[in-house]
Amino acid sequence: MRRVRHLNCGTFRARLGGPALVSHVVVCEFEHGLALIDSGIGADDVAHANSRLGVGFRLLLPALDTVETAVEQIGAMGFSAADVTDIVLTHMDLDHLGGASDFTSATVHTSAAEQSSAATRTDAAAKVRYRAPHLRAVKNRTSGYSDFTDELFGFTGHRLHDSICAIPMPGHTVGHCAIAIDDPQRGWLLHAGDAFHHRRAITGQSSGRSISIVETVLADDRRELRLNQRRLADLAARSGGPQIFCAHDPVQFAALVASQVQ
Ligand SMILES: [Zn+2]
Repeated sequence: MRRVRHLNCGTFRARLGGPALVSHVVVCEFEHGLALIDSGIGADDVAHANSRLGVGFRLLLPALDTVETAVEQIGAMGFSAADVTDIVLTHMDLDHLGGASDFTSATVHTSAAEQSSAATRTDAAAKVRYRAPHLRAVKNRTSGYSDFTDELFGFTGHRLHDSICAIPMPGHTVGHCAIAIDDPQRGWLLHAGDAFHHRRAITGQSSGRSISIVETVLADDRRELRLNQRRLADLAARSGGPQIFCAHDPVQFAALVASQVQ
């Protein structure tokens, strides 16, 4: 791994007691190409928002700006879509998987539990979060993993690479994982996806009422969600642990952008 950078690939302006939310995508640069952690909202999502994302998604007031897509931002960094060889997902929700459609040669990695849930569930809640066009676009290039035997920070995970490890963190969805990234400059980072939605959650404080309601409504298993938030709070309190952040907190995102190697 050469370096790690952070992109916001989807702003949401819905008022949830704070500034606009982001969709935090991590770009890992290797000698041979790029790996993305999550993929945000894609170009087709911006162009065909109602069909790709669903009408209900508009309630979150997404910016839907092509400039925010990972493919555009990677282009501005001097790379092409073909340079992205791998996309490691925290989970397959629409705001994390949408951008994968823009990287047609990339292998998509997710847990086998998440892959199966997204592919087989037909209930109304699943149709809102797992979007058929997104799943179709990655169907033949998704790799599901299920062996979690690698120790990291006192958790057991699945090593996808020396410097990337997926740690199961169910609750928001059944196969949700946090993705650990060994940044050569800053040490271990932990992209916790939607395991929490506000930085206060990992300090043991309340996330605030509106965020808490959103977390509860979106959770596949509320008990697991809160249990994993406590595990993350314990990890955050430990000295020498990874820098932990979630997908949508704008303050955590800004801090990581400020500390990245430009
Ligand atoms: Zn999300």
